[in-house]
Amino acid sequence: SVPLAFFGGIGAASRQGVVVKGANFLENLAKTETFVFDKTGTLTKGVFVVKEYHPRNMSKEELLELMAYGEIHSNHPIAQSLREAYGKELDKKKVKWVKEYSGFGVRANIEGRKVYIGNSKFMRRNEIVYSKVRSAGTAVHLAVDGVYAGYILIADTLREDAKYTISQLRHHQMILVMLTGDNERVAKSVARELGIENVFANLMPEGKVEQLQEFMDSQLEEEKLVFVGDGINDAPVLAMADVGIAMGGLGSDAAIEAADIVLMKDEPSGIIKAIRIAKETLSVVK
Ligand code: ADP
Ligand code: MG
Repeated sequence: SVPLAFFGGIGAASRQGVVVKGANFLENLAKTETFVFDKTGTLTKGVFVVKEYHPRNMSKEELLELMAYGEIHSNHPIAQSLREAYGKELDKKKVKWVKEYSGFGVRANIEGRKVYIGNSKFMRRNEIVYSKVRSAGTAVHLAVDGVYAGYILIADTLREDAKYTISQLRHHQMILVMLTGDNERVAKSVARELGIENVFANLMPEGKVEQLQEFMDSQLEEEKLVFVGDGINDAPVLAMADVGIAMGGLGSDAAIEAADIVLMKDEPSGIIKAIRIAKETLSVVK
C-alpha cells in the first residue's frame, strides 16, 4: 500500500504545476543520480529564428516558401518555426502528399515538385550533393526534384531557467547527460553554456533508445535514471526511463502519455521543485 504522505507529495507537486502520475515516481525521483536531457524543446525553447538564407538558383523567399509548404503538417519545432518565419497562410491544396522521417526531415509533393527538406544526413541518404555549413546553428537543406536548392540556417535559444536547473543538479552532484538529434556543434555549445559534461549528438530516435538502454544496463538495481524530453522524437525514451519527465505545454500528446511526470509550465526548474517534494515526502515516510 502507498503511504499517505505520498498523496500529500503528489498534491503539493500538482499545486506547483508538476503532475506526478504515481507515488513510485516520487520515490524513484528522490533516489535518482542520473539526469538525461533532450535538447530541442526541453533545454531550449524549440522556437528557431532564421539567421541566414543560402538559396541556390532561387530567391530566399522561394526557399522559405517551399520549406514552409513541405513542413505544413509536421509538429516538429523546426517545422513550426519555418511556418512562422514564412508568416503567410498556406494553401493546403498545393501539397499533394507529405511524409515525415523522424530525425531527418520531410519529403513532400508541392504542386508536382518533389522536395526534400531536412538535415545533412537526410541529403546524404537521398544522394543530394549539399553545401557544407560553416556557421554555428542548425541547417535545414532543400532539394527540389533531386537538385540541391540551398539551406536556411536557424537557431534556438535556451529556456530561461535551464541554467538554474542544471546548476542546481550539478550542486547536488548529479550525473548530467544530453542526447540530441541535432548536430555536434550546436549540441556542444548548448552543453558548454549549461554545464552538462556528457553530450551525444546526431542521434536518430533509435539511437536515443540504444544510448538510454546502455545507461540503464550499467546501473545497479537501486539506481534510478530520469529522462527529460518534449516527446518530439523521444516518446520511447520517456517511456523507458525509470522516471520520464515531459514538457506539458509545447510537448506532444504522445509525450504527456508516455511520461511519468509532466511539467505543465514547460519550465525545466519544475524538476527541482519535484525533487525537493520527493525528498521531503520520503523523509516523512521513512
Ligand atoms: P532533438 O533531439 O534535438 O530534439 P530531433 O530528434 O527532434 O532533435 O531531430 C533531429 C534533427 O532532425 C533536427 O535537428 C533536424 O535537423 C532534423 N529534423 C527532424 N525533423 C525535422 C523536420 N520536420 N524538418 C526538418 N528537419 C527535421
Ligand atoms: Mg526534442
